[in-house]
Amino acid sequence: MIEAEKPQSLVRKVERPPILDRIISERISDKEKDKLVDELLEKFDRQDIEEIKGGEIELSPRQKELIIEANRLISKALGGIGIKMKTEIKYPNIHILKADVFEKYRKKKGIKSESISAWTSIGEQAIFIKQEEYNELLFLDRIIHEMLHINSFISFQTVDMALDMEDRVGITERRTGLRIRETKIKIKKGKKGKKVAGRTFFNDLDEAIIEKLTLDIIRNFDLKISLGLKDDFQKSEKLRKILIDYIQKMFQERGGNMSQEELLEIGILYMVLNWGAVLLPEAGGFLEKYNENHDRIELEQAISFYSDQEASGFISHFAYGSQRILLERLINKIFEKNKEKFNNPSEIAQLFIRAAFEGRLLPLARLIDETFGKGSFRKLGEGEDITAVDFSE
Ligand SMILES: [Zn+2]
Repeated sequence: MIEAEKPQSLVRKVERPPILDRIISERISDKEKDKLVDELLEKFDRQDIEEIKGGEIELSPRQKELIIEANRLISKALGGIGIKMKTEIKYPNIHILKADVFEKYRKKKGIKSESISAWTSIGEQAIFIKQEEYNELLFLDRIIHEMLHINSFISFQTVDMALDMEDRVGITERRTGLRIRETKIKIKKGKKGKKVAGRTFFNDLDEAIIEKLTLDIIRNFDLKISLGLKDDFQKSEKLRKILIDYIQKMFQERGGNMSQEELLEIGILYMVLNWGAVLLPEAGGFLEKYNENHDRIELEQAISFYSDQEASGFISHFAYGSQRILLERLINKIFEKNKEKFNNPSEIAQLFIRAAFEGRLLPLARLIDETFGKGSFRKLGEGEDITAVDFSE
């Protein structure tokens, strides 16, 4: 049993103020920087966010335990590749909001995507989750993703404030993981140019890395979730792998004779099983029947059942599927071209993770420019698919 109220510290030694790797600016003194850091830290601790007052749903004792579990899993996952977890997230920083409050605050924050159900505010060190029905697995999935954002490399930069503000200079996010926000100079007629926050780069790639790690944790780690759900999940994982193998064989044996519709339907399910599905409903029943006689009819029935489930939106998915597919393609292409430097693609995946969590972009930028041509890293940051090159030419 985990004591929810007094989480044990998982981070042995904090080497930076939580959430803050650095503030980049030549325009303010070290003393001013320290003051800004203090202000930020106080803000993080207080979690006094006007816009969500009255709209918060209290976390259940079980959800508080799951937050501790998420810290443990993240620490283990990052530790496994030699990255030290930086920030242990305490439950006061996680806010479950009523749907209307969530939507209102999302719009106010300028987050355009209407489909999101959670986001992390770096400036507030707060995680906002839209109130929905979650089982323990989906709740874990959601908080691990957001908590990884806070644990990634974070820096701030200075911008000019409005003239009527007391402080001349304010700070805004510079880096969060791989995501970079540029600043630009905004010029109003007859006035001096102002430095303001500009566009962001590498957003998709950053999300892909964060969700890839989340998926690795959920699928491969020993999760402390309720026994019933854990049993369901293990069965779902077994069936998922059996179905993936079966569909691969099916494509090999009779792919050429399949109709367009069949190819499309099975192809979609194959992608869902590989990249999407968190938990397949009713997997236990299919698995039991299949284990009795290993009759392929059972698998055919499972395929048609899950195709329907997918079409009706009943299968919960890991997020950022298309972005993760692109990341995977990028990693494989880099490996293909640099086999003398790497033993396997996962060494390249680690390079991406390192850049997102430790901050150093240069090794990654160099590798990508060497592989795909000068300027490719920049293009990738702008969201361009740079993998559409054929190295065999
Ligand atoms: Zn995210």
